[in-house]
Amino acid sequence: MAFELPNLPYGYDALEPHIDARTMEIHHTKHHNGYTTKLNGAIAGTELEGKGIEEILTALDMSNGAVRNNGGGFFNHSLFWEIMSGDGGGEPTGNLASAIDDAFGSFEGFKEKFSASAGTRFGSGWAWLCVHKGGKLEICSTPNQDNPLMPDTGCEGYPILGLDVWEHAYYLNYQNRRPDYVAAFFNVINWNKVSEIYEANK
Ligand code: MN
Repeated sequence: MAFELPNLPYGYDALEPHIDARTMEIHHTKHHNGYTTKLNGAIAGTELEGKGIEEILTALDMSNGAVRNNGGGFFNHSLFWEIMSGDGGGEPTGNLASAIDDAFGSFEGFKEKFSASAGTRFGSGWAWLCVHKGGKLEICSTPNQDNPLMPDTGCEGYPILGLDVWEHAYYLNYQNRRPDYVAAFFNVINWNKVSEIYEANK
């Protein structure tokens, strides 16, 4: 069973004005679709064919560039679409809010640290909020399409929130102004979904 490009849980224009429809359409139909197609090509006829994406990534041979780049791209974007919403923004509640306060002092503390992680990633990559078994949270960042599920990335735990800081994610609307894009992202975070992923993986 080959991997399939997931549908967005909303329309391409749902995140406007924070993320524009044209960027979303190209990002989904070209970039994410490309990773999906190339992932299927890379695993076809190998022992990885038929395995789940998390199983593939957690046991990944990091020298396998095709699966590393395209498997990461497939997983990362699938998560990215899910944790945004046109009704997003605000702050988390419940256990996740408590865990954020424990780890970062306050929601503002989290926002600052996550924004710094996204802002200082040189070149292309992702900023992550990850949960460890037991519920403790960590912020980290990875280059390219690497992610915390992969071995030895310097990021550990299960990713519950990810921000794509590749230029393809923001250049049409924000050009070189990555900090403006990062700030806008906080207006579309679907904290209910992030909480759901937190609870399922803590
Ligand atoms: Mn992307």
